Amino acid sequence: MATCTRCNRGLKDPASIQRGFGPVCWAKVQADIETEAWAEGKTVRPEILF
Ligand SMILES: [Zn+2]
Repeated sequence: MATCTRCNRGLKDPASIQRGFGPVCWAKVQADIETEAWAEGKTVRPEILF
């Protein structure tokens, strides 16, 4: 069974399984990526990382 990379809960939505994160965690992961990108002064596109 697919689980969320961030919180280890089960994933049932095919889109979430493909991402490896549930919708709530995915939003947080994207926010984290944007924050880090700003801190480093560059733009990171999450779809390239995942
Ligand atoms: Zn999660």
